[in-house]
Amino acid sequence: MARKKKGLLVVVSGPAGVGKGTVDSALMAKHPEIKMSVSVTTRAPRPGEVEGVHYFYRTKEEFDRMIEEDAFLEYMHVFGMNYYGTPKSFVESEREKGNHVILEIDVQGAMKVKAACPDAVLVFIAPPSLKILKERLVGRGTETQESIDIRTKTALDELNMLPHYDYMVINDVVDEAVGEMESILTAELCRTVRNKELISKLTGGETI
Ligand code: 5GP
Repeated sequence: MARKKKGLLVVVSGPAGVGKGTVDSALMAKHPEIKMSVSVTTRAPRPGEVEGVHYFYRTKEEFDRMIEEDAFLEYMHVFGMNYYGTPKSFVESEREKGNHVILEIDVQGAMKVKAACPDAVLVFIAPPSLKILKERLVGRGTETQESIDIRTKTALDELNMLPHYDYMVINDVVDEAVGEMESILTAELCRTVRNKELISKLTGGETI
């Protein structure tokens, strides 16, 4: 999937517990040219989470300063408590190098990215069923009952946004979901609108 031109911006959303992280990690393990954007958040780290790997953990004041500096591609107030934002600089520099950048963000953030970057590819990772999603959410064991209830309600709201996405990948078997992600990226790279330079070379009367 390495082509020496501007990389793709791939937005990946899906309800908490659907396995977005698992699919994205497996995809990146196979493709070093795919990078994950690390978001900034005001929420506290969960056990095992690492600064600069899962998120950049910042205070509300620091987050506000970044908003003033126009440092975010998009940012969002999620679950009525915390802020999450995508720093612009990493996304832009990696795409310029020809790497593809994945943003793992919520549906509202995805809509903002689509508005700001119309060439972004929006992928929704969906569960095989609502029952399975709820089992996965409870099974994770890191959330309180209140948090599980909020996330279940949020999941239903997010699923209603599915028609606004370009692609839908069902995460039943991880390897199959990864294969579908690879197919999506390959198809996007083959789109004529992303190959204007090559097309004009082919049609611009260059001698063979
Ligand atoms: P969590 O607290 O479980 O890590 O994430 C909560 C929600 O925030 C998830 O739906 C996640 O996709 C979303 N999120 C994480 N980073 C960002 C970001 O930079 N921007 C937006 N809009 N949402 C984000």
